[in-house]
Amino acid sequence: MNPPTYHGVDGHVGNTPLIHLRRLSELTGCEILGKAEFMNPGGSVKDRAALGIITDAEERGLLKPGMTIVEGTAGNTGIGLTVVGAARGYRTVIVIPETQAPEKITLLRTLGADVRTVPAKPYSDPDNYNHIARRLAEENGWFWANQFDNTANREAHRRTTGPEIWEQTGGTVSAFSAAIGTGGTLAGVSQFLKEKNPAITTVCADPYGAAMWSWFTNGHTDDDDGDSVAEGIGQSRVTANVADAPVDKAFRIDDQTALTILNQLLREEGLFLGLSSGINIGGALGQAIEGGPGQTIVTILCDSGHKYQSKLYDREWLAENGLDPDLPLESLF
Ligand code: PMP
Repeated sequence: MNPPTYHGVDGHVGNTPLIHLRRLSELTGCEILGKAEFMNPGGSVKDRAALGIITDAEERGLLKPGMTIVEGTAGNTGIGLTVVGAARGYRTVIVIPETQAPEKITLLRTLGADVRTVPAKPYSDPDNYNHIARRLAEENGWFWANQFDNTANREAHRRTTGPEIWEQTGGTVSAFSAAIGTGGTLAGVSQFLKEKNPAITTVCADPYGAAMWSWFTNGHTDDDDGDSVAEGIGQSRVTANVADAPVDKAFRIDDQTALTILNQLLREEGLFLGLSSGINIGGALGQAIEGGPGQTIVTILCDSGHKYQSKLYDREWLAENGLDPDLPLESLF
């Protein structure tokens, strides 16, 4: 017998299970499945992008042993780059707006990132945190991950998440739904599934206040009214990862719908998730209702609820934000 091969955490990103969402499946007559990305080493779907961006930069000679990776990020990408980076021997510098929750800054520092807090500025301002990250890379000879416009991000999903979904459903997947932060997940998975079977429906689930519903429905980014408390999603510009993505349709999902889904899953199915997962599942539900029974619809369970306990799972905070954690799932039908 050959000795087994063992891997560090960077060898255990992806290959996550596909979880049957029982009640939503029963109510719609569809098979609704969630890919458990919260089971990645850094706890989110962004580990795939982090590993993909790092590996691509290594292959292209942009990232060499001992170098520093810099990124402007408020959350999961910073965690993914720091965790996967540590396993590969890279230091990370994370540039983060000072308005972000102190827990996130503490968590990134605990994980070993060099966190630089900067004043919050819009993207159009040269001192926006993303532009600062790029300048730091240029000035210091660091590698800038550039998750929004580096298409190694969506390529990671085209090479891993898409094929896993295809295999795990035995090729029976009929629709896929995901929200957009960078767009890497939706674009990469959609590219792969459409190559396998162009009849698969690809769906963008967009929170209010973002412009992706407007982009896929009307071809412009002007209709971005409303607001959302979801973190990690809510994009107002067409990133390089989103441009030319084969996405068929979009649904706008409000925070109350996403929260109602999350609480049903927590109380009746033991799934503890963040709000972007609720938005994604809302998109799957929209497709289930629009396309009717018999579909196999896959979506992404991006991260767990742990980072959001003081908000999404705190009754006082919810009340202050006009959200009700006790609405029954049936209220969505
Ligand atoms: N949900 C959460 C919690 C995230 O952190 C992100 C990434 N920003 C997403 C969803 C969206 O993923 P993507 O960047 O691939 O569009």
